[in-house]
Amino acid sequence: MTRLSTVRIAPEVCLPEFVMSPVHIICASCGSRASIPVARHGKWTYLGCVDCRSIELNPVPTDEELRQYYNTQYCVPFDEYHRRNERVSGELLRSIEASARVRGTMLEIGCSHGAFLSRAQAAGWEVAGIEISEEAAANARAQGLNVVTGRLEESGSSLGDFDCVASWHVIEHIVDVNAFLNSVKRHLKPGGLLALRTPNARALVARVIPQYWNWIEAPAHIRLFSPAGMTRLLERHGFSLCCQSTRRGDARTLGTDLLMAGAKLLVDGEARNADALTFRGNGSRAGGVTRYTDLISWPLDWILGIDGRNMLGTELFVMANHDSVTLGDGVQDGKFADLAQ
Ligand SMILES: [Zn+2]
Repeated sequence: MTRLSTVRIAPEVCLPEFVMSPVHIICASCGSRASIPVARHGKWTYLGCVDCRSIELNPVPTDEELRQYYNTQYCVPFDEYHRRNERVSGELLRSIEASARVRGTMLEIGCSHGAFLSRAQAAGWEVAGIEISEEAAANARAQGLNVVTGRLEESGSSLGDFDCVASWHVIEHIVDVNAFLNSVKRHLKPGGLLALRTPNARALVARVIPQYWNWIEAPAHIRLFSPAGMTRLLERHGFSLCCQSTRRGDARTLGTDLLMAGAKLLVDGEARNADALTFRGNGSRAGGVTRYTDLISWPLDWILGIDGRNMLGTELFVMANHDSVTLGDGVQDGKFADLAQ
């Protein structure tokens, strides 16, 4: 039996400035002030925007709450994360290369052990990465990758500008997405490509039983974007969307997503996060069950178009070109005017 390698992220490296910045209750994606509760987790409520249907955590966790969570409950099963990324890296790279102007320089924010960067480097990209976990970053460097440990805003000046910035499952952890995207823009060449993967707030399970959706995880997941919300956010920051689709993500099929929802229903309290990660990540314990579930669920997924046809997949995949820093009316530096004080 393979034991998962888990890393507890140290407080001094786990919270970049933009994670700790205050935000506002109104929808950060579209600016709407109308929202309804869609799920609860502990003391937190997830509010669904009635306009763009993105989901936001309320109240915003304090710096201390985030520190405590990331250092006591949040474990990343990096071994499994690495294996999953290896499986999908080729597919993601092909998508990027279909939209990128050149096969030039690439930065990955939150590159973990460097599975995706390795694939990109082998394909001819000149790559760099930023990773907050020292263990994962060291593993990436051991493979010959240029990876800096720490925060984007501290490491970026030495890294330069890039033709492509990729970030997989990071933006849902960010409190101040405007500050995050402003940091991203500073490291993109004009016309450069941003590629993001993040949970899809309009996934089928998220629509039907949001309380038990796998990605409802407070306080780690601050904001779960809908396709419409992500579009509005990126356009407000001067990006032009060139591709938006949904993917199966960790769940692979609707059946697995429902299994994980069942596990979430059954497992409570502080152990839930670690158990859920183990359930979805440890092939020796749950892999057999999920393999059968996937096999049975595959035809249903195809009929419902969950593999992307109807944007119902549990993971959102977005690519956008950074064309301009010119922002629309009522917007300052990506923020809504009434919030930009
Ligand atoms: Zn909204």
